[in-house]
Amino acid sequence: MNAEYDLLLAGSGHAHLGVLRQWLSIPRPHGRIALISDGGAAWYSGMLPGLLAGRYRPDQCRVPLPALCACAGIELIQGEIVGIDPDSNSLSLADGRVYSAKWLSLNVGSTLEALQVETCDLEMVPVKPFVGLVRAWYAWQQTPQPLAILGGGAAGVELALALTTKVSELTLISSGKILAGHPPGLRTKAIRSLVSANAKLIEGSLVDSVHGDALLSGSKIVWRGKQLILATGAVPLPWLREGVLAYDKRGFIAISPTLQSLSHQSIFAVGDCASLPDCPRNGVYAVRQGSILAKNLAAALEKKQLSNFVPQRHALALLADGKGGAMMSWAGITVQGRLFGRWKDRLDQSFINKIKKI
Ligand SMILES: Cc1cc2nc3c(=O)[nH]c(=O)nc-3n(C[C@H](O)[C@H](O)[C@H](O)COP(=O)(O)OP(=O)(O)OC[C@H]3O[C@@H](n4cnc5c(N)ncnc54)[C@H](O)[C@@H]3O)c2cc1C
Repeated sequence: MNAEYDLLLAGSGHAHLGVLRQWLSIPRPHGRIALISDGGAAWYSGMLPGLLAGRYRPDQCRVPLPALCACAGIELIQGEIVGIDPDSNSLSLADGRVYSAKWLSLNVGSTLEALQVETCDLEMVPVKPFVGLVRAWYAWQQTPQPLAILGGGAAGVELALALTTKVSELTLISSGKILAGHPPGLRTKAIRSLVSANAKLIEGSLVDSVHGDALLSGSKIVWRGKQLILATGAVPLPWLREGVLAYDKRGFIAISPTLQSLSHQSIFAVGDCASLPDCPRNGVYAVRQGSILAKNLAAALEKKQLSNFVPQRHALALLADGKGGAMMSWAGITVQGRLFGRWKDRLDQSFINKIKKI
């Protein structure tokens, strides 16, 4: 194969930011390396609810990529990836450019389940890409309307808690129970906080279509309004499913503990776009994969032995409660208070500031 690059990092997700952070302090592996990103900055999801609530400025929640890549000694290619050919290790961009490399590393995140739209009089914005949500939210604040958030997972709950005091009415709609799959204590605390902040909660309603200004579950109207944030579950990006990689049942890239595709060893995949048994899909695990990925990319380029990523059994969940505090859950223990809010702020800011300190 006549590859132009030794390594292409696709997407500026959490793990790739961790890799670049390492290359600021230790020499990066030899070879021609580039990061392909669809924007000039990488947004940090953990701070997004605080940004929308007005607690952070946009520049505090994003990492400018040109300076980061320059300091890490790699090229930055800006463009949206729309295709992958795993057999030639190449990536195609929306503007027609095609890049190939000896090694690919994919950290492009996920997208959201789409709703069936018959006619739409709603302004409907998905949580990803973050830049689109931030823009829409600033525009919506000029004419605040009753707002609905669709999706009762951690992202939907945090956004609801952050925004409920900013709109005249906020409704959080969940297909199952709110925070299903999280410890019962966290769910109870989150529901208490949402109710005391006057959020309306609708559980067990699987919204599957939009008709005019109405959200429908089958033929039943669940909510009517003008502004909707989609925070439904993560699904694979369509262009990643079109390749001939090995996938899990849901279409995410199946990887081995070395973070390599099960079908194509020259392709690494991490974070939300990848699937590894016992590894949940969230920012905490994407960040943790970053340090093993950095090690393994260097080992791959230098033809050395790769290491295994072993997901930790318990991960800390910290959900901002919208009032400066946070709910914490770890190994089945849940607590809430302002102290945990300050701790969450410190963890989030230290993650992003370590990368921005160039
Ligand atoms: C509001 C909100 C709050 C959250 N809070 C938390 C939290 O507190 N803790 C937690 O653990 N998880 C949290 N999550 C979940 C977390 O955001 C995701 O699990 C995490 O972002 C996944 O990281 P990633 O590195 O896989 O990808 P991402 O962070 O999604 O990054 C993917 C990157 O790839 C780029 N990209 C995507 N498509 C393309 C393309 N076609 N071409 C080029 N570049 C592309 C994107 O621009 C982005 O920079 C939250 C999610 C949301 C929505």
